[in-house]
Amino acid sequence: MNRIVIVGNGPAGHRLAELLRTRAPRAAVTVLGAEAEPAYNRVLLPSVISGKLSPEQTYLTGHDSGTVTVRRGAVVTGIDRERRTVRTGDGLLHPYDELVLATGARCFLPPLPGLTGAGGGPADGVVALRTLADCRRLEDLLPRAGSIVVLGGGVLGLEVARALGDRGHGVDVVHMGPHVMERQLDAPAGKTLAGVLERLGIRIHTGRAAASWTGGRLVLDDGSSLPADLVVVSAGVQPNTELARAAGLDVGRGIVVDDHMRTSDPRIHALGDCAEHAGLVPGLIAPAWEQAETLAEALTGGDRPYTATRTVTRLKARGVDLAVIGDGNHALPGAEVVTLADPARGQYARLALQDERVVGAILLGFPSSVAAVSQLYDAGAPTPVDRLSLLAGRAVAGRADAPGDLPDEAVVCRCNNVTKRALVAGWRGGARTPDALSRVTRASTGCGGCAGAVDGICRWLDATRAVQGEPGDARSGDAGAAFAPAVEQRPDAQQLKELLVR
Ligand SMILES: Cc1cc2nc3c(=O)[nH]c(=O)nc-3n(C[C@H](O)[C@H](O)[C@H](O)COP(=O)(O)OP(=O)(O)OC[C@H]3O[C@@H](n4cnc5c(N)ncnc54)[C@H](O)[C@@H]3O)c2cc1C
Repeated sequence: MNRIVIVGNGPAGHRLAELLRTRAPRAAVTVLGAEAEPAYNRVLLPSVISGKLSPEQTYLTGHDSGTVTVRRGAVVTGIDRERRTVRTGDGLLHPYDELVLATGARCFLPPLPGLTGAGGGPADGVVALRTLADCRRLEDLLPRAGSIVVLGGGVLGLEVARALGDRGHGVDVVHMGPHVMERQLDAPAGKTLAGVLERLGIRIHTGRAAASWTGGRLVLDDGSSLPADLVVVSAGVQPNTELARAAGLDVGRGIVVDDHMRTSDPRIHALGDCAEHAGLVPGLIAPAWEQAETLAEALTGGDRPYTATRTVTRLKARGVDLAVIGDGNHALPGAEVVTLADPARGQYARLALQDERVVGAILLGFPSSVAAVSQLYDAGAPTPVDRLSLLAGRAVAGRADAPGDLPDEAVVCRCNNVTKRALVAGWRGGARTPDALSRVTRASTGCGGCAGAVDGICRWLDATRAVQGEPGDARSGDAGAAFAPAVEQRPDAQQLKELLVR
């Protein structure tokens, strides 16, 4: 029997184990996870902080049974490549034929006076958010936190700031970069987003670094200071590569892997936030899901090379609708760029096209166009000639956002990796409302950006049943266009033309 040991019970390790449960029924799979919790979806932690979800609602489905054994609270401390064993903190040895490192990443804690406590972890009153245990710590600190500063204005920092704002706390965000989310956004988008957040009560301080935390005040690099009973650090992550490095594997920023997730030792594999593929460590959930598919294939004799994931990043912040599709920030040489801006109304859109295909987009305050633009991007399909209609959410020949036209395998909810096929199955299983579909599939429990699409699919299925007396076949697109996702704000093409700045 093939013994497969997976180190790490985060989303990547958990997904791989679940795939192997069905695809490798003769293998003995052991998952060794340091955390005491069942596997959960880290992407949903800001929703736990805002109170929208309970910790249990973040748990990933699957169970410890059959050919998969999950050991929680099991920290792997060493790998013996010659004997093919790993050692856990309790001194036990676990033999393997194939070893998978899914050790993820941890928060970077800037080495500033006051921020670190004994043992190098966060000081009392400082939280670096990565785990459910961190959420609980934050919860314990909140009642005595009159003033809160979030250090870092990247995606996660802004989500946490908004979640805390939702709970009635005043929050300052201190960000070193020239504008918020500069990895994903260009300057006008960053400034427009900051304006939207400020109007929601979050104070943004860009171009400023923290110098120290002392006496309930965060001192900044220009000598000024902000009241801060509580500091939430969101200053980036570091892949957990120590085990791999100590075992002599090739390590760059992450554990170096090839297109089949193989490390420099062919018996050892890595995936998710700890893995470096083609020089990149994406640090996002969608690549982790895809890499799990690649590795499940490789471990069961298949061949499904991993290339690179087409990413769509959505800000999970109530009252802000921001999606970054692909590389939103960087203009490719020769790309056609269409930009619309209405900063006063918090709207900014930037569409980069090459050979008539979407190669990147920033959509802030354009909720109705996100589904169509993402589907065009995912499919690599040509965009309609009328770019403005696309941005207005009035698609397009072939209606990329029409439920009937979506392929079964289209991922509708990226936070939870829920496909149209899974939604149709849920509906056929009796979940006949968006809420019920959400409960059985977890779709739209993350950023909520797909709520309109889930609603559209539900209405399309209802309509096809009404017409055909039969639950809708996933490819019967006729009713689809009429049931595209509900739209909150849909400026018409004329309004958009007035906004055209380039
Ligand atoms: C608050 C938050 C919000 C996020 N939001 C988004 C989002 O909106 N979109 C998005 O794409 N991504 C988001 N991410 C990133 C996303 O969660 C990660 O990409 C994803 O969790 C990666 O999964 P992973 O399994 O590779 O690593 P991890 O989730 O880090 O899991 C690794 C696991 O391995 C365990 N481990 C480590 N070392 C050992 C050891 N030696 N022995 C045993 N176990 C070990 C760890 O304890 C951990 O449980 C977010 C992350 C956070 C923290």
